[in-house]
Amino acid sequence: MLSDEAVKEFQEIYKKKFGKEISYQDAYESGQRLVNLFKILWESDRKDKQKQRRLKTELDGFPVDGTYNCIVCHTYINETTGWYDKYGQKCFPCRRAVKEKVIPAFVCKNSDSFYMIWQLKSYFNIHPQTARKLIRQGVLKARIITNDNGQPHEYILLKKENPDLVDPERRSSALKSYHRNRDKVFKKQIKEDKQKFRAEQEKLLKRAKSKN
Ligand SMILES: [Zn+2]
Repeated sequence: MLSDEAVKEFQEIYKKKFGKEISYQDAYESGQRLVNLFKILWESDRKDKQKQRRLKTELDGFPVDGTYNCIVCHTYINETTGWYDKYGQKCFPCRRAVKEKVIPAFVCKNSDSFYMIWQLKSYFNIHPQTARKLIRQGVLKARIITNDNGQPHEYILLKKENPDLVDPERRSSALKSYHRNRDKVFKKQIKEDKQKFRAEQEKLLKRAKSKN
């Protein structure tokens, strides 16, 4: 609860800052919202510091204390599925991938250093299925995070290992030729379809004529 004094102070600050009056009720509500926001920030800062302290004695980390997103793959994690260590909170597959150096640790700190396979669709119009094919062909390089069963959990494409993906305008010749070939196949298909359609039409026309 905000004190009467605090609300009045808020009214004064508001007037100085924006050059107009704010009602007591509005000042109270805005002030309360601000206080709530600071509470959240303060609380998260406090939790962060607490975790940092814990890490000094629990070097390998500990389970997360609530619901979070994995900082690598964004999967929801909780006390039983997530782990916190010096690189932040992660799901188990991503944690293992960092530990076993399948993915570099900087991936945890810099989400702008890589693409996940499903992001290629919106950035480069490369469907995940196509992307997997390009990975198999070696055109794209992916670090594959696996789950407990050894199945792929997530594909991480480091920007530094895939220079063609950083700038869509400067694609490699390999990717260009892939696209060119795909376009060619596509065009050929359209042409064949058109020819088929025309042949059908002609057949129908002939049949109609012979009836007359
Ligand atoms: Zn993850």
